[in-house]
Amino acid sequence: MHPNVKKLLELQKVDQEIVSLRRDTASLPAEELKRKRKLDDLERLALERKDRSTKVELETRALDITVKQSDDEIKKLNERLNAVRNNAEYQATLFQIESVVRERDRLQDECLKLLEGMDALKAELTTAAAAAAEERKVFEGFLAEAAKLRAACELKVVGVIEKRKFVAEGIPNDLLTGYERLFATRDGLAVCSVERGFCQGCYNKITTNDTAKLMGGTTVISCDSCQRILYLPR
Ligand SMILES: [Zn+2]
Repeated sequence: MHPNVKKLLELQKVDQEIVSLRRDTASLPAEELKRKRKLDDLERLALERKDRSTKVELETRALDITVKQSDDEIKKLNERLNAVRNNAEYQATLFQIESVVRERDRLQDECLKLLEGMDALKAELTTAAAAAAEERKVFEGFLAEAAKLRAACELKVVGVIEKRKFVAEGIPNDLLTGYERLFATRDGLAVCSVERGFCQGCYNKITTNDTAKLMGGTTVISCDSCQRILYLPR
């Protein structure tokens, strides 16, 4: 094997290791987004339920105040009823009392209905808030783990990149540049073997002439079809 091809083959192993290390953390951003969406949904639901619960509470309080005001009004109307001097005024006041009482009862019913629903609303709010808090804990745990994984991975990559410098030493610049371009465009396989006369990168046949040169080991031979740098395994 040509000594530069031997070096390139070593370099390819290092580069594949870097790719593999980076692949370990490549799925993290998508996973984080997925988990964040789930958390956002749960937090939104909890907030909606809290808003709804607060709104009902305020409505109940307002109705209660109105009912009390109606009670005061009824009391005043009853007092007036005792002071009226003629029948027409008496009838009119009586009619007014009936009307206020009817409205008061209607408001009180409405208030009671809201109060009855309040327990269920509060229970729903508690459940939603607990689910959101639990999911936040899970999400924060995931973030911490992901950060650890990223840091560990980066540390390893830095080590491998350091090693790469030594492995790449002595390879002619144009050959190295060509190799790097192939590694990037040929799916991480720039140097590949020839087996039974076929390039193992693209499975095309290698000419007898090139096979002879490969056996000689004095020239760097590339595949005519895929341009990958070739070698004959021992
Ligand atoms: Zn090929």
